[in-house]
Amino acid sequence: MFGTAWRVARIAGIEVRVDSSWVVIALLITYSMYLRASLLYESLSTVGAVGLAILAALLFFGSVLVHELAHALVSQARGIRVQDITLFLFGGATRARVESRGPADEFLIAAVGPLTSGILAGLFGVMNLLGRDALPEPLAGTLGYLAWTNLLLAGFNLVPGFPLDGGRLLRSAIWRATGSLRRATRIASLAGQAVGWLLVAAGVGWLLAGDLAGGIWFAFIGWFLVQAARSSYEELQLRDMLRGVEAEDVMAGDLLRIPPDLSLQDAVDDYFMRYDHGAFPVDEQGRTIGLLTLRGVRRVPREQWPARRVREFMVPLGDQVVVAPDARMDQVLGKLQDGEAGRVLVVQDGEVVGIITPSDLTRWLRRWRALESRTR
Ligand SMILES: [Zn+2]
Repeated sequence: MFGTAWRVARIAGIEVRVDSSWVVIALLITYSMYLRASLLYESLSTVGAVGLAILAALLFFGSVLVHELAHALVSQARGIRVQDITLFLFGGATRARVESRGPADEFLIAAVGPLTSGILAGLFGVMNLLGRDALPEPLAGTLGYLAWTNLLLAGFNLVPGFPLDGGRLLRSAIWRATGSLRRATRIASLAGQAVGWLLVAAGVGWLLAGDLAGGIWFAFIGWFLVQAARSSYEELQLRDMLRGVEAEDVMAGDLLRIPPDLSLQDAVDDYFMRYDHGAFPVDEQGRTIGLLTLRGVRRVPREQWPARRVREFMVPLGDQVVVAPDARMDQVLGKLQDGEAGRVLVVQDGEVVGIITPSDLTRWLRRWRALESRTR
C-alpha cells in the first residue's frame, strides 16, 4: 500500500506480508510499551521492561493478525479467494474480491473481524482476572492492557467509514437495501472520508491542546482513512469504466522486437533509449522466446553491456502474467495490480501481440475521458 511489502509467513495457504511502513510503527509501539512498563512497574529492571514491552507488542500484533485471519478464513469458507494479508501502520488489510459476491457475504466477512477482536478482549480480560494472584503484577497488568487494546481495535474498526469494517457493514446494508453496489460504495466511501476528516480535526485539536504525539497519531490515521476511502471508490469507478473493454483495446500493440543475439549495449542504445517502453519481447525466427526488461538490464554492470547478449538476461515468457486478447479488462486490472512486474502480456497463439502497463491504462483512460466529455 505504501511501498515494499515483505512476505513473512503463510497461514492456511494465505500469504502474510509486512509493509515497510509497519517496521517504524512496530518500533514506536514497542517503545511506547516500554515507556508504559517502566513507568507503571518501578520494580522492573530495564531488561525486564524491554522484555515485557516486546512481549506486549508481539501479543498486540498477534491480535491484529488474528483479526485479519478471521476475515480471510471466513472469505475462503464462502468461496472467495484471498490474495494476501498485509500488516501496515495501525492495522492490517486482507485483500479479497468480496465485491464479486452478494451483500450477505460482505456483511459476514466484515462482521467477523470486530467480533474476533471482541472475543480476544474477553480472553485477555479473563486471563488478567485469573492471573492477578498467580502471575507477577507486570505480566497480569499487561494482559489487562491487551484486553483494552483489543476492545479499542474492535471499536475503531466498527466506525462506519469505508474501508473500515464498520464501513463495509454499512455498505452491505445499503447494497442490500438499494441493490446497487455502486451507490452503496459511494455512500460508504463518503462516510469514510467524513470520519477521516473528523479524526484529522480531532488530531489538530489535540495538537493545539499540547498533546503532540496523540495529535499527530490521530491526524495521521484520519488522513489515511480519507485517502483509503477515496481510492477504494475510484477503483470501483475504474472497474465500471473498464467493463466491456478487452485487453487488445488497451494494450500497446505494434511491438518492436529485439533479436536474442544483440548485445545489451545495442539493446540499450537502439531500443530503451529510443523508445518509451520498459520492456521489449525477444523474438527468434518469428517466435517470442522471452522479454527483456529495463529492470533486468539495470542489474548488469554497465561495463559488461557490450559483451553480454540479450538472450542471457531476458525473462522467460513462463514467468510473466499472460492474458488473451479478448480478456476482459476489469479482470486484467486485478492481475495488473497483483503482479509484481507491473505488466501483463497479451499473447495469441504463443506470440506476444501486446503489453499492458499501468501507463498504457492511464493513456487509454485519458483518451476515453476526452471522448466521453465531447459526446456529452
Ligand atoms: Zn477488520
